[in-house]
Amino acid sequence: MTAAPHSSAASLPVRRGEEPWTEAELDGVRGELKAEAVGLREEIGQAESQIAARLRDSVAEAGDDEADASSKLFEREHELAISRNTRELLEQTEHALERIEAGTYGVCESCGKPIGKARLLAFPRATLCVECKQRQERR
Ligand SMILES: [Zn+2]
Repeated sequence: MTAAPHSSAASLPVRRGEEPWTEAELDGVRGELKAEAVGLREEIGQAESQIAARLRDSVAEAGDDEADASSKLFEREHELAISRNTRELLEQTEHALERIEAGTYGVCESCGKPIGKARLLAFPRATLCVECKQRQERR
């Protein structure tokens, strides 16, 4: 089966002066994002089973002194924060893949202008052009 015309690489937006996307370049980005999504899902699965194991431990060791209990709490929150970040990354990665399939990959989600191929090759998950990203960071 061939790709639908709307998702063909050459129709994706690029910045002035940039060459259109080639199928090989788009395949490269898609492959990278897919591999990343697999890795992130594994990481989330591991973090979740660690958190579950720790919860079981803390129930089993209910007699701990306070300092010990609070350091365990800290560890648990740290793990939760990591898995939250990982989840966010996974969402961004999946979002980028959806955009590739929808043929909207490379359109800035804020101003609608091309993000630029060079930027996407460096940051495949980018959803904002450099200007919008900088504006967002200044806020
Ligand atoms: Zn923009």
